[in-house]
Amino acid sequence: MPEYTPSACRRCGTCCRQGGPALHHEDKPLIECNVIEVMNIITLRRGETVRDDPTGTLITLDEEVLRLSLPDGSGCPYLQTTPLACTIHGSHPLECRVLSCTDPRALMDIYTTNRLQRVDLLGEESELIAAARYHDETFPAKHILDIARRIAKEIKHGMPKDCRQDIETLTDIASRERAFRMTLLEHTQIPSTHLPFLLGRSIPTLVTPLGLKLS
Ligand code: SF4
Repeated sequence: MPEYTPSACRRCGTCCRQGGPALHHEDKPLIECNVIEVMNIITLRRGETVRDDPTGTLITLDEEVLRLSLPDGSGCPYLQTTPLACTIHGSHPLECRVLSCTDPRALMDIYTTNRLQRVDLLGEESELIAAARYHDETFPAKHILDIARRIAKEIKHGMPKDCRQDIETLTDIASRERAFRMTLLEHTQIPSTHLPFLLGRSIPTLVTPLGLKLS
């Protein structure tokens, strides 16, 4: 186990730019009183590959994670850049409160415990959680990413013709998933800005890090 030297936060904003925190049950009151707005939460779905903050490695999620994020995933929406500041400082989430640049032990202690999920905010009886679960079963992130990785690999090796079937399958899934989102918006009162929370990232957004561009 490496030795760490405790130090005060220098408020450089580096961790906030790398990605907002995952949310825990302790953060639920911040959402209920609108300090944290739903439009600033993205659901990373089971099966997605994400960066594990304490280790910096890529992992595949076996449970969903709610995270503060800008729509393009480029950092925390509550980071003000000029002057550099956390705009909800004093009411910032649990992970931000325990994070230390030089000693990740406090973050690691709570990192995978008591994580908040969509059902905790929507309720078990909600029609929206039923829609989110249907979406997860119909458009599983792991299946989509497996197809996308095969396509990216073939393109990298200069053989895009060999993955024509995969391209057609992925295009079809993306089209049906987009239609699902549109139908949900038409039949509910939710604003489109809540879709990344309710359904996670769209398929084009999901496959972009693999170098794939879906319209
Ligand atoms: S909530 Fe504040 S401290 Fe936490 S990542 Fe966002 S800007 Fe940084």
